[in-house]
Amino acid sequence: MIDVLSVTSEIYPLVKTGGLADVAGALPRALAAHDIAMRSLVPGYPQVMAALGKGRVVARFDDLFGDAAQLIAARVEGLDLIVIDAPHLYDRAGGIYVDETGEDWADNWARYAALGWVAAELARGLVEGYRPRIVHAHDWQGAMAAAYVAFGGDSTTKVALTIHNIAFQGQFGADIFPHLRLPQAAFDMTGVEYYGGVGFLKGGLRCAHAVTTVSPTYALEIQTPEYGMGLEGLLVERSADLYGILNGIDVEAWNPRTDAALAANYAAASTGKRQVNALALAERFGLEMDGGPLFGLVSRLTWQKGIDIVADNVDWLVSLGGRLAVLGSGDAGLEDAMAQAAARHPGRVGFVKGYDENLSHLMQGGADVMLVPSRFEPCGLTQLYGLRYGAVPLVSRVGGLADTVIDANEAAVEAGVATGIQFSPVDGPSLGEAIRRTVSLFHRPAVWSRMQRKGMKTDVSWDRSAEKYAGLYTSLLGDQ
Ligand code: ADP
Repeated sequence: MIDVLSVTSEIYPLVKTGGLADVAGALPRALAAHDIAMRSLVPGYPQVMAALGKGRVVARFDDLFGDAAQLIAARVEGLDLIVIDAPHLYDRAGGIYVDETGEDWADNWARYAALGWVAAELARGLVEGYRPRIVHAHDWQGAMAAAYVAFGGDSTTKVALTIHNIAFQGQFGADIFPHLRLPQAAFDMTGVEYYGGVGFLKGGLRCAHAVTTVSPTYALEIQTPEYGMGLEGLLVERSADLYGILNGIDVEAWNPRTDAALAANYAAASTGKRQVNALALAERFGLEMDGGPLFGLVSRLTWQKGIDIVADNVDWLVSLGGRLAVLGSGDAGLEDAMAQAAARHPGRVGFVKGYDENLSHLMQGGADVMLVPSRFEPCGLTQLYGLRYGAVPLVSRVGGLADTVIDANEAAVEAGVATGIQFSPVDGPSLGEAIRRTVSLFHRPAVWSRMQRKGMKTDVSWDRSAEKYAGLYTSLLGDQ
């Protein structure tokens, strides 16, 4: 049994803003089958503290980046947690990264330096009877764990750092450096220094023993200027230690046979029942029922997700007989564009603004097509849910979308291996052409249902990926 400490700023079902939470929540269970005991170190946000119930205090600090704090160990929802109970850092209303006005918390550097610092202390044996041999940190919020291990003189702990989205890097001014509890030597190229300031992700990438990201294609993309967001040079240098391991999904929570959020449950052999879900969706979104394909979009409404090129194509989609249901929130301009599209096409386009987990399930269970036209997508989860639920994914050919969907070109259709539709480059005309192709495939019922069934039989579980992470941990320890 190998003890691994996962260091994460989000974990499903306790606190989630994106795919990172799903991964952090699913990995511990998936890894247990591979002889890995994973505990998760998480900040004590209000929603985490509320879920804790009876925990055990395992350590106390007089001054954790500004005030007293304690660590609480607890088992919640099947997860072994170590929670940093530090009200001065985490107990506040608003978002977990931003305040009520949407501005980053000014002390985010302290909030996530603390997370990494505590991880390194645990690895050094802070709590009697617990000494993880591997620290697995996630994104910039967890990344400083690698720097604290490297510069703390701890040569026994191995650190893996996973990039879920390189767009978020945790960059701060040089003025915070003296408060980080790092030796002066850490403020240079080999440490956390980044263009004269402090880069949390940069420092982590420099100091971690292995770097992973969430799909093989994204692992290649981030080594290029187009996708590397300034870190491509460093990633090329580290390419021998860089791995792309696809995310899986929680196939119990996302199971169309048992999903309680659906109006009707079904399996690959009974996709006809999806019609009941489609009807429920049509009611919820104010859409007409007819023979045209129902496109679903469940997403943060941001530039990354290509929502603007969807807006450009709404009239075209409707002109081809399609309908569109959009669930999401995000940039005000894109929310407006979706609201206007719905107003322009009553009965054909519907928009529900907000975040609604249950409705997102119903959309997977009722939509014919799941739209994921991202400009970049490290792995993406919505297309994996789409495959599992028979909502055929229409995706851009980037990152994990390229790795998980097999395009329905004629050869793939002929061979019966297609599971969705891909398009490239990521622009309006190219998406428009893909929508046209999708509608025409939809009107070939035998081809369409074969594609649906093939997708539903694709292995999107964590099994294979968990095995890869377990193999990575083992090989890191073998290096010692
Ligand atoms: P990202 O993490 O970049 O937002 P992913 O595809 O990796 O993208 O993960 C998005 C997750 O958030 C999925 O589980 C998706 O179903 C969910 N999601 C996004 N927007 C909404 C929404 N408005 N309502 C419910 N779930 C949503």
